[in-house]
Parts: sequence; C-alpha cells; structure tokens
Amino acid sequence: MVVVESFRAARNLGEGVVGLVPTMGSLHAGHISLLEEARRGADTVVMSLFVNPLQFEDDSDLARYPRDLQHDLTLAYEAGVDVVFAPAMEEMYPPGHRTRVNVHGTADHMEGAHRPGHFEGVATVVTKLLAGLRPNLAFFGRKDAQQLSVVTRLASDLSIPVEIIGCQLIREPDGLALSSRNVFLDDEGRKIALGLSGGLFAAADLVEEGVRSGGILEGEVRRASPEAQFEYVRLATQEDALPTEEISEPCFLAAALRVGSVRLIDAVFFDVTDGDVHVDRGRRLET
Ligand code: AMP
Repeated sequence: MVVVESFRAARNLGEGVVGLVPTMGSLHAGHISLLEEARRGADTVVMSLFVNPLQFEDDSDLARYPRDLQHDLTLAYEAGVDVVFAPAMEEMYPPGHRTRVNVHGTADHMEGAHRPGHFEGVATVVTKLLAGLRPNLAFFGRKDAQQLSVVTRLASDLSIPVEIIGCQLIREPDGLALSSRNVFLDDEGRKIALGLSGGLFAAADLVEEGVRSGGILEGEVRRASPEAQFEYVRLATQEDALPTEEISEPCFLAAALRVGSVRLIDAVFFDVTDGDVHVDRGRRLET
C-alpha cells in the first residue's frame, strides 16, 4: 500500500480497472464493506482520505470530526487498499480556487434543506476526485442515500466516464447505522438513536406487507418512534432524491434525527424489479 498526497501521484499508480472509495477517514465496518466491494471489482483500489471543509456548514462540527490517520491506514491496508490518496488542503483547494458544483433539485430536499451548502461541498469534492483521479468505478454507501443520488447525477450530467456503485448500508447488531459520529453517543443517546432505525424498519415491514403510500410510511416511522425528534422523514426517488407520494419506481425512505449535539441519518431502500418491490434494510454485523 502506498500513501500519496498529490492527484498526479495517485493517478500514475492506477493500473487496470481503478476503483475509488472516497472517505473522510475515521474508518469503520461501513467503509470496509465499500473497500471490499472495490477489491472485488477493481485491479487497483484507491481510497481517498480527506475531511472536506466545504461540506461542513458548522466550524465546530468540522473541528471535532474524529480523525485517526494511523488507525485508518492500518484498516485500509488490511482491507487490501493499494493507494491511499491523502491530500493536504492546498492540493485539494489551491489558493484562488472558485469553482463549485451544484446539482439542482437532487440536492434541494431533506439533507439539502437542513444543511445549506452541504451538497455543494460534497458535489465539488467528488467532482474533483473523479476528475483528478479518473477512476473507472467509484463506490458510495447507501447510508448517505441522497448523496448517492447527487453523485450519480453529477457524474452523468458532467459526462465523467465513471460507473457509480451504490453499496449496502452496514449496521451495528442492534440496527444502528454505522457512522463516524456514533462515537459521540452515550448510552442514553444511543437508546434514542435506535428510534431512527427502529422507525424505518417498522415502515419497511409495511412495505413488505404491500403498503406503497409515502404518507403512510412517513407516519409509521413517527408512530413507531414517538420519542424521537426527527428533522425529516421522507420517501424519495433513488434517481434524483425527489420527494414522492408513492413507491412506483426505485425509492428510499430517509430520516434524520438529532440526539443532543449529534446529528444522525439513516435510510431503507426500496428497489423495484419487474414491478416487484424489494426492501433493502442494509446488513447487520454479527455480535
Ligand atoms: P464518510 O467517511 O462518512 O464520508 O463516508 C465515506 C463513504 O462511506 C460514503 O460513501 C458513505 O456513504 C459510506 N458509509 C458511511 N457509513 C456507512 C455505513 N454504515 N454503511 C455503508 N456505507 C457507509
């Protein structure tokens, strides 16, 4: 495994099919599953590691974002990463940079409505990674459901020759979606946080029983977790993350919850094949 800081060095190390896994570090089993998927599909696995200030709307959130380079490098090595691209700020955003990428509509609702500027930051850094590293494949988690729609849309609209691959959401054995921010939850917070996955699973049960109405599903999440203060609960299309009233195409049900100073998001996916709806709740780690 080689660790490099420049786009050029990372690009020059790519041989055969290059698979990119963008991360902000603080790796956990969710990231590892993306790396494993990349390892299966690519000859060269490149993992980027960059805490992107443009996508944080709050300086204190950025300042306390967990960072542990040595731990990340060990896990990346064990997962079979070939190249770690860990750029300094000046490599990613040289003085005088001005360009921003906006994915109108896809970035407007849910996370976009509650975190102004967030998706502009995500879209800008992902565009730079795709343009600067030129991977054939890029892997993103279904954990960040709307982000996956934003990234897929920008790659298509900007004619970037990459295949975006959405990977299954990985959960703790109790159902909580793995997140770098979970370290900030105490025991009490964790109990409240479980209302997020619990509510989404209750709605997923209804879908398996044949319910297709967004209103009923959104109501079920709130009914199943009455103590949870959701920022939003929304059924949206996978293609463009647009709110929808019914599962008549591939969709996801996404929700955000604030637990003290920690903000958590989660989603369950509804895939549609030949008119049949298949529920993807993600995969739970074993105890
Ligand atoms: P982050 O480091 O949080 O920016 O995440 C990097 C990538 O890992 C993104 O594509 C996320 O969607 C993905 N990811 C984060 N948590 C999970 C999880 N629990 N399961 C699957 N993918 C995840």
